[in-house]
Formats: sequence, structure tokens, C-alpha cells
Amino acid sequence: MRLRNVPGSREAIAESKYTINEPQEYKGKWNEVFGNDKPIRIEIGMGKGKFITQLALDNPDVNYIGIEKFSSVLIRAIEKRRELEIDNLLFIRMDAEIIADCFAEGEIDKIYLNFSDPWPKDRHAKRRLTSKEFFARYDKILKKDGVVEFKTDNNLLFDFSLEQIPMAGWEIVECTRDLHNDEKMNEGNVMTEYEERFSAKGNPINKLIAKR
Ligand code: SAM
Repeated sequence: MRLRNVPGSREAIAESKYTINEPQEYKGKWNEVFGNDKPIRIEIGMGKGKFITQLALDNPDVNYIGIEKFSSVLIRAIEKRRELEIDNLLFIRMDAEIIADCFAEGEIDKIYLNFSDPWPKDRHAKRRLTSKEFFARYDKILKKDGVVEFKTDNNLLFDFSLEQIPMAGWEIVECTRDLHNDEKMNEGNVMTEYEERFSAKGNPINKLIAKR
């Protein structure tokens, strides 16, 4: 359902006060960007931003940054953002491959990955956001005791992630194959757009939490 081409979206994003256009310039300075010392949590591949926008509304003491590579979906998040009187939610349009150029060591408090693209071909495995290559990038920016939380209905991608994360030197601290029927892990769960869509079809949702 990705809208690949929304005319004018790239320009509207560049001009929006809710997007940061040159994120590399703010490496180590994100607290200054937000104007406070609150922890910073990011969602990589946030799509239209339903999940991260809800988190920002629910948790005013946390700053959130949504990262998305496609303008066509990011513009929808910005449209919703304009209607909200909150000061703790910003967006970056970029490929997360360069994430370690944008945040300093330990600058990020938590990373969310939700329904990440599966990249089913083996030769594209490095592009999966739960590959060991991506976890090496997360290692550079996440604070020492920070965690990565990952949800997906895609069993193959989940199995891949369960293999890759320990290979990257991380530990899986929580794991379920049926989030919505796991009372403990589902507590306070905020559904993403894809999560609503796939769970409505009857797909169980996998979730893991990883730390070093
Ligand atoms: N997280 C949302 C949800 O759960 O509803 C959207 C899921 S959608 C399947 C995956 C999103 O991740 C897409 O919008 C895609 O453009 C984005 N994405 C995939 N790889 C990315 C990357 N390397 N950097 C930034 N965004 C990425």
C-alpha cells in the first residue's frame, strides 16, 4: 500500500519544521535540537507514523524521532503531526544505513523496528533492519543499557533476526511468537498500522527485545 509517488512530498518535507534535513549536522546535539535533556527514542522505518505519534502523545517526557526513507509515506506523518500541539516528535527522511553518522555514541535511549521490510532475497539480507550489519550500527548509537524492540508478523524475518542478533553480540531478553496473547509482553502495546492490518487477518505477531 506504499504510495511511491506523492507529487510535491519531497519539497513539503524539506520545508516542514518537523523534519530535520541535514541530520549529520546534529550528531551529538539532539538534546539541543529538542531544547531539553529528555531521553531520545527512534523508530526506524516508521511509515505513516501511527505508532511513534501515539508514543509521543502518551509520553511527553520522552523525545521521539521517526526515520523513514520514502517521502510518500513520511508526508502522511507530517500532515498528522501538524494537527498536534506536542514538542517531542521530529522526523528524518533518510536511509537508516547512515544512522551512525547522525547520532553520537549512547545518544539514543531506545530503538523501535516495526514490520520492517523482509527483503526476501538472500543477496539483500544486509538491507534487513535486523541484520547483524544493522545491529552493528545500533551498537554505535544506543546507550549502554538501551534496548531494541522489534515486531513483525513475518516468521522468516523473525527467525533470521533471532539468528543474526546473537551473531552481532547482542542478547534476546524477551521473545514471543504471539504478542497479542502474551499478557506480559502485550501490556501497554501500541499497535502500528501494519500490526492492525495483519492481526486483523489473523496473523500472530512476533516480538523480541534485544540488548547487549
Ligand atoms: N513501521 C510501520 C508499521 O509497522 O506500520 C511501517 C512498516 S513498512 C512495512 C516498513 C517501512 O520501513 C517502509 O515505510 C519503508 O520505506 C521503511 N524502511 C525500510 N528500510 C528502511 C531504511 N533502510 N531506512 C529507513 N526506512 C526504511
